[in-house]
Amino acid sequence: MFDTTVAGSLPKPVWLAEPDRLWAPWRLDGAELDAAKRDATLLALKLQEDCGIDMVTDGEQSRQHFVHGFVEFVDGIDFEHKVEMGIRADRYKASVPQVTGELRLRGRVHETEARLARAHTGRKLKITLPGPMTLVDTVADAHYGDRAEMAMAFAVLLNAEARGLAADGADVVQFDEPAFNVYMADVRDWGIEALHRAIEGVGCTTAVHICYGYGIKANADWKATLGSEWRQYEEIFPALASSRIDQVSVECRNSRVPLSLLSLLEGKDIQVGAIDVASDEVETPEQVAAVIAEAARYVPREKIIASTNCGMAPMSRDVAYAKLAALGQGAALARERLG
Ligand code: ZN
Repeated sequence: MFDTTVAGSLPKPVWLAEPDRLWAPWRLDGAELDAAKRDATLLALKLQEDCGIDMVTDGEQSRQHFVHGFVEFVDGIDFEHKVEMGIRADRYKASVPQVTGELRLRGRVHETEARLARAHTGRKLKITLPGPMTLVDTVADAHYGDRAEMAMAFAVLLNAEARGLAADGADVVQFDEPAFNVYMADVRDWGIEALHRAIEGVGCTTAVHICYGYGIKANADWKATLGSEWRQYEEIFPALASSRIDQVSVECRNSRVPLSLLSLLEGKDIQVGAIDVASDEVETPEQVAAVIAEAARYVPREKIIASTNCGMAPMSRDVAYAKLAALGQGAALARERLG
């Protein structure tokens, strides 16, 4: 009960990439970079274990960004001629590559880090991939002419990688879909269908992470416009509840999502975000336990996994791991109280 995990990414060591930022440039290249990524992955595993994290990730140490770490391995995308595009329904502008032809995967994407992680931890292992809708929302389309069609094309590629990750020994493959609470109608129209295509025949547990984004300014500004209660999830939870996805990861700590909405996800395991990644204030175990207890009012206890609200990539490393230690201690406290 109350196993712990992290949403996905963790800060990278300073010798691997510039600290405290998204899109941090690598400090090395070639074979040295490859070796440094492997070392950083092992370190991330060890530190998660020390913090009492039960289901660890590779910390996404081998990718510069959660979307582009995948897209870099896809043919049919022109990275030379990027265009500026409003993403997440124009919440912020980004310089994005263009899809110019049929999408094809150039072999495996995360095999190296998945196998390395599997060989070096006895804990449950989760590997993350961007979801089809979020991929569609992060590239410019100059080929398909239809978001749903392009999402299905990405889903086929994601499926190949997800099957590979399960074969590498991942216990959970998680698709990150922050776009899900931006395009709620699309989730019902084709978002779930694309996810189903992505998980078809995948031989391990599957999860989807939805959230209100990293703690960057554009997201903070957007959140300020959402009112006192964030009810976006209300529109998509019923569709997720009837989907074939096993687990749903949602942000709960310091968010204005009424946790009563979690009851709309009946039947799913819930990765309850009990750590705020938009604040450097380190939670106390007591605060973590309180989020878990609140979630337990709406979700059967055996279906709760304690997690972070979102990825921690842009955070300070010391703060991030202090928060993970609080997560481990808070889940232990909740187990004592509610077990
Ligand atoms: Zn997130």
